[in-house]
Amino acid sequence: MKTWREECGVFGVWNHEQAGRLTYLGLYAMQHRGQESAGIVALHQNQHLQHKGLGLVADVFKEADLDRLLGESAIGHVRYSTTGENRLANAQPLAAQLFSGPVALAHNGNLVNSHILRKQLQEQGSIFQGTNDTECVLHLISRTPTSDIIEAMKLVLPQLEGAFSFTILTHDRLLAVRDPFGFRPLVLGKKKNDRGEDSYIVASETCAFDLVGAQLVREIEPGEMIEINKEGIRSYFFQKKVQSAPCVFEHVYFSRPDSIVFGQSVYEARKSFGKWLAKEFPTEADIVIPVPDSGVPAAIGYSAESKIPFEFGIIRNHYVGRTFIQPHQSIRNFGVKIKLNPQTAILSGKRVIVVDDSLVRGTTSKKIIGLIRQAGAKEVHMRIASPPTIGPCFYGVDTPQKSQLIAANQSLAEIRDHIGADSLAYLSIEGMLASLKESQKPTHRTYCSACFDGKYPTRVE
Ligand code: AMP
Repeated sequence: MKTWREECGVFGVWNHEQAGRLTYLGLYAMQHRGQESAGIVALHQNQHLQHKGLGLVADVFKEADLDRLLGESAIGHVRYSTTGENRLANAQPLAAQLFSGPVALAHNGNLVNSHILRKQLQEQGSIFQGTNDTECVLHLISRTPTSDIIEAMKLVLPQLEGAFSFTILTHDRLLAVRDPFGFRPLVLGKKKNDRGEDSYIVASETCAFDLVGAQLVREIEPGEMIEINKEGIRSYFFQKKVQSAPCVFEHVYFSRPDSIVFGQSVYEARKSFGKWLAKEFPTEADIVIPVPDSGVPAAIGYSAESKIPFEFGIIRNHYVGRTFIQPHQSIRNFGVKIKLNPQTAILSGKRVIVVDDSLVRGTTSKKIIGLIRQAGAKEVHMRIASPPTIGPCFYGVDTPQKSQLIAANQSLAEIRDHIGADSLAYLSIEGMLASLKESQKPTHRTYCSACFDGKYPTRVE
């Protein structure tokens, strides 16, 4: 099956004089969720104004572009896809002029039945511009026998399978929708506009609220659709069966550590993973070092639990993009070298525990351990603050197919030898879930951890 794996961030503003600029800031804060394209659609005098482009938020939007995005409501999107389909037609928000008026849609997640929907729609005469799954949703909305967007969504949403957190802008309202599993995060916030009125903000992550000065109101619930218009805010549940399965990998790697995701601090969750890892796999060593930046909170937790001193043994050059994000293997390999510099003064002659958040193909760990050894470390013990990654994600995280997942194909000892470590240990699935419960006092959730346990909450072919 051809999958359209997309890591994305979505944003929305209702009733603020600086809607376009707030959206720009929100996307800026969520740049880690996607670096290939960015876009904003604003609502001005019942019509949509849009600006989209390939590249980083700061490159796509110039001052003049933001000046043109007039209006008091807007939605925005940052996108990364792995399929090579990095073209402008796939950049979101996707906007269309329907019979009922303009509709624009920003999607984080991945629809597992999009190939079926697309085929049916094309057979019925729909014309597609791009190759992403999100375009199906616009076609489905357009085909409903109603011009009321709420009624249309009630008909469309039950047809969608998989992961979706949407922000949708029409000529007179903003919608925020989360699939019944709640795979991807989506939060509602509030801030005052210049007239002292409430404006509503929707974002994938709360770090976007921090930058725009909004307060977190609450999470949008799995299976919930929120409608915001000039009368205020209303909530609908479009499917009775809700089976909460938020993505555990948001806590492991994907979200920013300064966000509250699924009701819980990502930083605290990662620290807790590190503590559990130290409890499950204690090792004698002189220092604990993180793979920066993704392993930092877990290494702090590991160090706190084990009482082994924490050091920044590797210094990261922050002006290089994330290695994984480069589509070609040759560039990825180059990326690790250019990005991370081990400090000989810290590492030489030491027994080192290296903590990273995850091990996917094994490329990063192998390079890093090589660099640490070159810097004179006596022993290198690799500790991974999540379980072995054994399955691809069909819900919007760029995990490669099974053949490239080292833990799906090799034993622990083989992986240890491949990466060149003296020892290797992963946090157990039980440890990961227990540490989430421990660091999240009020509610106990069930998560989607399909990439670690192979249990997919939906059909995936
Ligand atoms: P690998 O080299 O394939 O083993 O990748 C592992 C490294 O990539 C770890 O340092 C992770 O922090 C990072 N990583 C894991 N998953 C992803 C992802 N979906 N997107 C980008 N980076 C990732």
